[in-house]
Amino acid sequence: MRDARIRFDTRSEFFTDLKTRVDAYFDTAGLSRRGDTRMFVKTAIILAWCVASVTLFLALDVGLLGAALFGVALGLGGAGVGMSIMHDGNHKAYSDGRQLNQLMSWTLDLLGSSSYIWNHKHNVQHHTYPNVVGSDDDVDLGPLARLAPESPRYALHRFQHLYMWPLYGLITIKWHWIDDFYQLARGRIGEHAFPRPRGKDALVFWGGKVLFFGWILVLPLLFKPTAVALTFYFVAQVVQGLVLAVTFQMAHCVEEAAYFETPADGVPVTLDFARHQLATTIDFATTNKLATWYMGGLNFQAVHHLFPRICHVHYPVISRIVEDTARDHSVPYSPTPSLKSALRSHYRWLKALGTQDDVVAPARPPAVPAPLSAGPAASAPAVAA
Ligand SMILES: [Zn+2]
Repeated sequence: MRDARIRFDTRSEFFTDLKTRVDAYFDTAGLSRRGDTRMFVKTAIILAWCVASVTLFLALDVGLLGAALFGVALGLGGAGVGMSIMHDGNHKAYSDGRQLNQLMSWTLDLLGSSSYIWNHKHNVQHHTYPNVVGSDDDVDLGPLARLAPESPRYALHRFQHLYMWPLYGLITIKWHWIDDFYQLARGRIGEHAFPRPRGKDALVFWGGKVLFFGWILVLPLLFKPTAVALTFYFVAQVVQGLVLAVTFQMAHCVEEAAYFETPADGVPVTLDFARHQLATTIDFATTNKLATWYMGGLNFQAVHHLFPRICHVHYPVISRIVEDTARDHSVPYSPTPSLKSALRSHYRWLKALGTQDDVVAPARPPAVPAPLSAGPAASAPAVAA
């Protein structure tokens, strides 16, 4: 559900110019905006990795250490499925074929979490309102952690730069045991209502749960000692959750990212779409080929937020077009250079938010006047500081 208090202007000169240049790139190169052979090869490798991790664990006579090692392998593979296969499928960027996108999106159900609920949480809420406090569920963890300067600080937060890391590891367990069922029962994600799944969507929701708990828990418990089976499950989920959560945090919850607070006075605010996305979402490690292959372009998350229907295999090239266009329009776009620097930035930001009341995030782009302006948003007077 859209938040009526915030509107986005997608007609700025910057974004119009950027889209023209990106269109020209695809037209000149004669390329599809969706995935190509690279995606099929990657999908085969990652899925084979996951199947091999489970099959070998079940087939071999392993103890607790072996279960943990196969759990690490499955967790890394599962995170790869989420970032490099499901994410593109759910955005309809994997292929021009609707069914293939759907099929790839359902890989999330096979991994235990509902692709239907993910679609509403990620594609609708997160993508529309990144780092908008009050509208983006990802920056609202309630009293558990303070992830934005606009959120209240509690005494517990003093240690959040330490305790959040193990909690990240529990995120997929929380999704598949609690959140999916809770959100389905409420028909809401946070404050935002969503239609409950019906027909085929309901079948995939419940069928996915049965299949997932079948292969991840029932099957191992039938053939392995309970401690070995549970170790495999737990380690796999912790590794997967940690990789997924930290990857998203390195793009949004860092010193370089801006935040915006949903206006409380009921007066709608209009934001420049492209500037908002680039200010609240930070690319990182863009020259790291292995990270780019494995993370499915989530290290190009600012580019992804601007062009979610373009498959991630194109992002390294699109990123250079964004860089050139941003420079020409004096729009800030400077990716964090490495994984290490992005991780450190997230750690320092968690610590600053947990220990100081008045933390200053980078300046947010000014709002543009409503009704939507067709002119350059940068020259528009700020109506929301
Ligand atoms: Zn996305």
